[in-house]
Amino acid sequence: MPSTPIDRSTAWPFEDGEPGAFTYSRYSSPTLAEAEARIGALDGGEALLFASGSAATTSLVLALLGPGQTVALAEGAYYGTGAILDELERWGIEKVEFDQTGPPPDGVDLVWLEAPSNPFLTLPDFAAAAAYPARVVCDSTAATPLNIRPLEHGCDIALHSATKYLAGHDDALVGALVCRSAEDAARLLEFRSRTGPVPASDTAWLVLRGLQTLEVRVARQTATAQTLVARLERHPDVTVVRYPGFGGLLSFDVADAAAARRVETSTRLIVNMTSLGGVSTRIEARARWEGERVPPGLLRLSVGLEDADALWDDLERALGEK
Ligand code: PLP
Repeated sequence: MPSTPIDRSTAWPFEDGEPGAFTYSRYSSPTLAEAEARIGALDGGEALLFASGSAATTSLVLALLGPGQTVALAEGAYYGTGAILDELERWGIEKVEFDQTGPPPDGVDLVWLEAPSNPFLTLPDFAAAAAYPARVVCDSTAATPLNIRPLEHGCDIALHSATKYLAGHDDALVGALVCRSAEDAARLLEFRSRTGPVPASDTAWLVLRGLQTLEVRVARQTATAQTLVARLERHPDVTVVRYPGFGGLLSFDVADAAAARRVETSTRLIVNMTSLGGVSTRIEARARWEGERVPPGLLRLSVGLEDADALWDDLERALGEK
């Protein structure tokens, strides 16, 4: 695929006195439209990019729900999604949490799944959610469309923090919503155009560049993660390993917060930092962000592209620090 040019214009000339395909970049731009077409093709729907995954979440809720409505959020989903919904409580949006491995609770207006959940790595019961009489959203950031295409499982909208695997290099903050229905896509585009959480063309270009290697990155990250999971499961100081069987994200538990701190600060190749889906492997104790919601010894590992044996040597040595 040839590289797409970046068009940084914020406005384009009208054609014969009429707005053309692109008029003002708060609505859309050529580079953005190209990135959206590629992501839409990957997930099998109509894609819109947002200024971050969180902007995509906020826009979805504000555009498609109203005061007095309730979201059923998968327990153990990305903690920031719950934080956004808490923020929107002042505007009349309620949140209830449910175990996504079973059916959603009765009487909610939006079902919010995460596949797999971050950092618990559970997978939703897609059939139960699809049978539910309300819109279903699935945050498939950690799966990527290569592993799970939520619209094919009956969901109405797939959400990505494209900051992670889709852009893939820790250099672009960006989100995506991929819609099954043209009506939802049109409403979300209207909302984004009016309120403005749209990414810049440079960011859209970084997504396009990242997508060119998505398949090889995820294949390698998956193979390495599988190797590390098998070895972590045999390690005497590791009490739990969570991994859905695919992708580059996993979590595991050590005895307590002090042990987790020792491990995350003792690695040399693996970087102690947040985020996931990049080319470099990173580890972090999640309790620093999520508090008591996660076990104190839970470490999240996002596997990058380094050599699997070198990563294991690093982890094993860090686990051995006393
Ligand atoms: N969804 C998941 C699963 C995430 O991991 C994150 C960020 O970590 C988000 C959404 C939010 O995305 P962003 O950081 O791009 O706002």
